[in-house]
Amino acid sequence: MLLQGPRERVAAAARALAAEGLVVGTAGNVSERAGARVAITPTGAELRDLTAELVTVVDLAGAHVGGELAATSELDLHLGVYERYGAGAVIHTHAPMATALSCVLDELPCIHYQMLLLGGPVRVAPYRTFGSPELAQVTIEALDERMAALMANHGAIAYAHDMDTAVKQTLLLEWACTLYHRAAAVGTPRVLDEQARQAVVAAAIERNYGTTQAVDR
Ligand SMILES: [Zn+2]
Repeated sequence: MLLQGPRERVAAAARALAAEGLVVGTAGNVSERAGARVAITPTGAELRDLTAELVTVVDLAGAHVGGELAATSELDLHLGVYERYGAGAVIHTHAPMATALSCVLDELPCIHYQMLLLGGPVRVAPYRTFGSPELAQVTIEALDERMAALMANHGAIAYAHDMDTAVKQTLLLEWACTLYHRAAAVGTPRVLDEQARQAVVAAAIERNYGTTQAVDR
């Protein structure tokens, strides 16, 4: 099967995100790039049941290369992220908390240091019609120097160099949105300022944060 590995990872990520409740029914789309080709979820497919054979393959210009089904309506958005940011995998969801906050906020403030993995404060791209070149354009701009963005009154997007990391970023974004929602329910969340954020980056580099480390013997 053409692009078997990427198609299997796209299908597995779609099923995993459905199991987490971050994609519901046919809403949301997942892609992985392999050289000049992209494996991407088809339009209208139930993501919780997605299999590799149902995943579509296109080239970087969006021309159909493999699979029986037409690509997601947000194809331009995915291709634009690959072109501008050299991503390896892209995930767009209508995850419940991210989508709720996208209806209210202009930016998700950086209230927890783990959000630095997403690039700090998360921008909310202005509302545009789904599947339109305009939506792709404003969303791609909102990702500048970020790994994730919210899309006003629509949902969320995250990308990474590989699919595993893109799934983790998607889960982290939903966690951060849930955290903000809970904190804002009891008061005004404190925001980590630029100085605090830089100190986190320095500490993470010094301690090799996020990796397991053997004890000194
Ligand atoms: Zn959408």
